[in-house]
Amino acid sequence: MKCHILTLFPDMVLEGLRTSILGRAEEKGVLSLHGVNIRDFAENKHNRVDDAPYGGGAGLVMQPGPVYGAWKSVAAGLEKQPRVVYLTPQGRVFNQKIAEEFAKEEELIFLCGHYEGIDERVLELIVTDYLSIGDYVLTGGELAAMVVIDSIARLIPGVLHNDASAEIETFSDNLLEYPQYTRPEEFMGQKVPEVLLSGHHGNVDKWRRKQSILRTARSRPDLLAKATLSEEEKELLKTLDFQGEI
Ligand code: SAM
Repeated sequence: MKCHILTLFPDMVLEGLRTSILGRAEEKGVLSLHGVNIRDFAENKHNRVDDAPYGGGAGLVMQPGPVYGAWKSVAAGLEKQPRVVYLTPQGRVFNQKIAEEFAKEEELIFLCGHYEGIDERVLELIVTDYLSIGDYVLTGGELAAMVVIDSIARLIPGVLHNDASAEIETFSDNLLEYPQYTRPEEFMGQKVPEVLLSGHHGNVDKWRRKQSILRTARSRPDLLAKATLSEEEKELLKTLDFQGEI
C-alpha cells in the first residue's frame, strides 16, 4: 500500500510512523509512506499558507491553493484516483471496521489540517472521506493521520511478523482480547494462570474465550451486545456480578 500524507509537518508524521514495525514494512516493500509538505505549494514569497477567516473570528484558516497544489502533485501522475481522507473532528469516528475497509485500498491520500482547519472549497473539490479519531479536538491532523495509518497498515499482509495476530485480537468478533502473559512464571508473587502452562490447547482456547467475554462484559457492554455468543456463553453472562471475575 502507498500512503501519501499532505501536511505542514511531514517529518513529524514520517519519523513517527517509520519507527519499529511500519519502518520494517517499508524496508520490505509492503508499505510506502510519502510525505508532501503543503508549504512547498505556498503562493507568496513569505511561504504563508494561512489567513484570517472571512466573516471574522479567532485563529487562521489554511488557504485552498497550497492544499490543492499538494494534492495535485500526487494525483496528477496517477491513473486511478485514490480516496482522499481528511482528518477532522467532524468526520466519521474511526474504528477497526473502517480500518479493515481502508486496508483493501492500494493507495490513499491523507490530508492533515492545522490552525482552525482548511478552506471549505478545496475540501469539497478533493476530499472523499472525512475521518475523526474521537470526540476531542487536536491542534493538527498529523497525530490523527498517524493513528489511522498505523491501524490500517498493520492489517496489510506481510506488515506484522505473524499475520494471524491481527485476526484474533481486540475488536475482532466484537470482543476485547483475553489477558496475555509471558515469562517469568511468577512476578511479585503473582502467578501465570495454571491453564496457560498446561499445554492443553483446547482448555487454553476455552479459558481465553471466557476471559474475552468477561472482559468485554465488564469494560465494553456496548460491544458485547453485537458479539455472537453460544447459548452456554449467554448463560454464563447471566451469572456474572463482576466481583473478582477477571
Ligand atoms: N475548527 C475545527 C473544528 O472545530 O472542527 C478544528 C480544527 S483543529 C484545531 C485543527 C486540525 O486538527 C483539523 O483541521 C484536523 O485536521 C485536526 N483534528 C483535530 N481534531 C481531530 C480529530 N478528533 N480527529 C481527526 N483530526 C482532528
